[in-house]
Amino acid sequence: MQIAHLLLAVALLLAIALAIYLLYRYRIAAARAERAEQISGQILAIAQEGYLHLDPDHRILEANDLACHLLQESREALLNRSIFAFFSHEALTGLGNLGRPETSVEIELTLAGNRRLPCRVNHKAIVDPSGRFAGTILMLDNLAARSQQEVYLQRAAAVFDHAAEGVMILNKEGRLELVNPAFTAITGFTSEEVLGRTPQFFRYGHIWADLLSVGHWRGEIINHRKNGESYPEWLSLSAVHAYDGSVQSYIGLFSDVSHLKKSENELKHMAHYDALTDLPNRTLMSIQLNMALERAARRANKLAIFGVDLDGFKTVNDSLGHPAGDLLLQTIATRLKQSLRSEDVVARLGGDEFAMIIENPPSAIHLSHLAEKIIAAVGRPVDLNGSKAQVTASIGIAIYPQDGEDATTLLKAADTAMYASKQSGKNTYRYHDDEMAKAAHQRMALEQGLRLAMEMGQLELSYQPQVDIRTGDVLGVEALVRWNHPELGAVQPSEFISVAEETGLIVPLGEWVLREACEQVQEWVRQELFMGTVSVNVAGRQIERSDYYGTVKRVLEETGINPKRLVLEIKESILLRNAKQALAELGHLRTLGVSIVIDDFGVGYSSLAYLKYLSAQGIKIDQRFVLGLPGDKNDAAITRAIIAMARSLDFALTAEGVETEAQKDFLEKEGCTQAQGFLYSKPIPAEAFGNWLQGRRRQAGQNRAGGDPLAGERRELEGSDDLADVPPQDSNQPSSGWWH
Ligand code: C2E
Ligand code: MG
Ligand code: MG
Repeated sequence: MQIAHLLLAVALLLAIALAIYLLYRYRIAAARAERAEQISGQILAIAQEGYLHLDPDHRILEANDLACHLLQESREALLNRSIFAFFSHEALTGLGNLGRPETSVEIELTLAGNRRLPCRVNHKAIVDPSGRFAGTILMLDNLAARSQQEVYLQRAAAVFDHAAEGVMILNKEGRLELVNPAFTAITGFTSEEVLGRTPQFFRYGHIWADLLSVGHWRGEIINHRKNGESYPEWLSLSAVHAYDGSVQSYIGLFSDVSHLKKSENELKHMAHYDALTDLPNRTLMSIQLNMALERAARRANKLAIFGVDLDGFKTVNDSLGHPAGDLLLQTIATRLKQSLRSEDVVARLGGDEFAMIIENPPSAIHLSHLAEKIIAAVGRPVDLNGSKAQVTASIGIAIYPQDGEDATTLLKAADTAMYASKQSGKNTYRYHDDEMAKAAHQRMALEQGLRLAMEMGQLELSYQPQVDIRTGDVLGVEALVRWNHPELGAVQPSEFISVAEETGLIVPLGEWVLREACEQVQEWVRQELFMGTVSVNVAGRQIERSDYYGTVKRVLEETGINPKRLVLEIKESILLRNAKQALAELGHLRTLGVSIVIDDFGVGYSSLAYLKYLSAQGIKIDQRFVLGLPGDKNDAAITRAIIAMARSLDFALTAEGVETEAQKDFLEKEGCTQAQGFLYSKPIPAEAFGNWLQGRRRQAGQNRAGGDPLAGERRELEGSDDLADVPPQDSNQPSSGWWH
């Protein structure tokens, strides 16, 4: 009995323990199931497909949010409803037997209000452990949404392929990932050629800045086609951002706007150009005039305005008809354009009225010549389809700044002057300002006189010695041209050399001087009167506009002078004006064996290093600095500096315009070796100079015991053949003041 009780108690304990264990297992399983249910609930909530759980009688047991949304019912309304409420009859057969283990079909669901929804239905039968059919799981995929997306993609692709604009998609590094056919059509690059590459514009800082700060950029750029042609492009760039805000890619749309530009330019052209002659019209002319005036003011230049009016145009127009009149105007317009430099402006103000802008005219005489050239050009007969016509021009000239400082005043002044031309008989020109007219007239007279002077032999040369500053020995002479005008008397070179330069007369004049000086010196050499050098002045225009090398070569050959005797004096200003060409030409001249000296040095601010580059042999200190010596502190300082620099660079140095002993002493003390000036002699005519050389020679013969007056000359021309037969001569000539 005792044992039976014990066994019962043990069995009871075991049963309790088993019950506790089972309870524990159940709890765990329940918790797991609950978690699994939670998770599957969450999965279903975010699932991209509608979920339905049906019981074996095809009634809805469970539905996720999306299924409720697709079937457009609340969950409560759905639960326990038969699924066949939503399937049409055909759909039912399409789906076949819901009892089949697994199918996927596209069917149409019927929704409230008889609306239809195309769906892909995935279906799975649930079978219980004993193999019986326990229900069905349906997954509904909204095909309407799918096909909307597909349609959208298809359309996007069509736009991409057929757009007239170039489209490019770039990755976040700015490399091309996709381009459309228009891209190729516009740029000429195929997609294979550009994919993976970065367009040039993508590297422009301002585009980047905008893309990074506001996410897009829009504007016009100049791009290049594959064939190298450039074209204006309207470009719009946008950054595409990912969900986290980072840039994912860039999209660029662009179009070629060159045709727009062209028509824009055509419009502009029409607004600014005269349709008949294609010359600038009054509007453009005033814009150009205002700009030209600004430039002139800034650079302190002059500017001339020509008002040109045709005489007799009305008669042609009335008698031969308008088409003939138009043709005449076109011909005259062309002639006017051809009369001007390319930088000058000619405009048609209206009717038979034209205007010209001449910026920075070289001189008044230039303007007079230009006016005459225009009058001659306009006056030539014009062939108007068989009939000949002739018109003339009346010109009025106004000059900035003296005749006015603004466009309106100047145009009015030119107009007034033009009327004055008309009144004085037409086919002529008038300046607005009398003074200007007089000056121009005088210069014209001078020019004509100079032409005549060359023919009539009114020009002659004077010679001024260049001496050794220590010993007074004559080392050379400078030939200076003189004009003996029958009425005006002696005309100074300062008055006529510039006219000769402006008109080009300097070229024949300069050649005459060169030949005359060489012949004369050669003559003195032959007579054994002179052994030094002869300096000839050369104007810029001779070097810039003529074959000066050829001229010098010819004169050397024809006169037989030793090239070492010839010194060409070039003004410093020429070198500054036209450095490159001048340098080349001087280098060329040097090969002839002649020397080059820079005249009037010190006023042009050229550096000595630059002179070295020139291969010049010497410089002449400008007389403006010598004038103030030794008292003027500035002149003294500048002279000292020039002497020091010239010595260190081994240039021969001559001081010009030495008039006093004090100047000479200062220069000598500072180390200047040669001088020229009234202290020694004024320039004197050839005959007088020859006489003096004779006298000097006689005197030298009498003082044979003394020093050698030609020592310096010999030094200058060391190595020259001419020197072999020069007899040593003595002289006790004073070293200065010979020809006062
Ligand atoms: P330049 O070549 O500097 O010539 C020196 C000028 O200074 C000469 O003036 C001369 O008479 C003058 N002169 C000489 N010593 C003194 C002096 O002690 N004091 C003063 N106050 N003046 C002195 P000129 O003959 O009137 O010639 C003036 C300028 O005309 C020359 O300056 C030269 O540039 C140019 N010239 C003269 N002849 C020719 C030539 O044949 N061709 C070219 N292209 N230019 C020439
Ligand atoms: Mg000179
Ligand atoms: Mg000089």
